Amino acid sequence: MSKLNDIQFNIYFNLQEFECPCCKCVMVHSDLLTNLIKLRKLVNEPIFINSGYRCKTYNNQVGGVATSYHLFGMAVDVYARNINISSLAIHAQQVGFKGIGVYGTFLHLDVRPEKYIWEG
Ligand SMILES: [Zn+2]
Ligand SMILES: [Zn+2]
Repeated sequence: MSKLNDIQFNIYFNLQEFECPCCKCVMVHSDLLTNLIKLRKLVNEPIFINSGYRCKTYNNQVGGVATSYHLFGMAVDVYARNINISSLAIHAQQVGFKGIGVYGTFLHLDVRPEKYIWEG
């Protein structure tokens, strides 16, 4: 198994979880990681990352907007097994996430400067 990006931030998250699936490039904003760790501790459940950093090519492929925070290592799409998406969204606000997109099966979370919450 590849050791590329196999770097454990702490007991909860590994850098590999944030990498772009097409090229394995990765960027992680420190505020994003800080908030995710806070969220993980608050809900006391594993947080699964569907999508972290995206290169331009991959972002276009998945139909992401051109200004997506995923391009800057400032966004993740997440879910937890035992917590529904709307409760997870409330907890995400409590730990300081400013951008929150509530989708059917996952939450988009980002560390933009101004608060913005939407339903996808
Ligand atoms: Zn890529
Ligand atoms: Zn997203």
